[in-house]
Amino acid sequence: MAEFDLAPFIRDVPDFPKPGILFRDVTPLLADAAALREAVAAVVEPFRGAGVERVVGIESRGFLFGTPVALALGAGFGLVRKQGKLPYETRQVTYDLEYGSDTVEMHVDAVEPGQRVLLVDDLIATGGTAAASVRLLQDAGAKVVGCAFLIELEALGGRAKLGCDLVHAVLRY
Ligand code: AMP
Repeated sequence: MAEFDLAPFIRDVPDFPKPGILFRDVTPLLADAAALREAVAAVVEPFRGAGVERVVGIESRGFLFGTPVALALGAGFGLVRKQGKLPYETRQVTYDLEYGSDTVEMHVDAVEPGQRVLLVDDLIATGGTAAASVRLLQDAGAKVVGCAFLIELEALGGRAKLGCDLVHAVLRY
């Protein structure tokens, strides 16, 4: 079977959310049943048989892809969110941005010590958010078996920051 081309379902939006940023909009892909199915299958593919016990998604588009990935792998799902959004007791990691800093949080029971976890987001750019999320998972005692993204902005070199054994991206720009 010919490989399904997902690239036409990513919409490039120049100067969003600020001038100079080319935003990779995944909503056309989410809207198309076949593209959505193929995208989830492509994110999952290297991790079949990897013994993933929990998938953790990064707010907010990591939730959209992470949850069906968890279903496909027979795993449960956990959430990494920006500070102040989660209702229960949390762990936190603060990381540097170009200007200032940001904090990600996860419920203390989002993963269990020793659990085999796959981290999922829609896109890796600088890798700052995903690297902080890997640290959250490691602080919680989880074994991070992989980091999976639909899209990687390769020129930014984010994957090298992650400290993740297997970094998988479906589409690379
Ligand atoms: P970073 O921490 O720089 O890797 O940024 C990753 C987060 O920002 C992800 O959750 C992405 O959804 C979002 N993001 C960063 N750059 C873009 C972009 N060019 N288009 C769409 N989303 C982006």
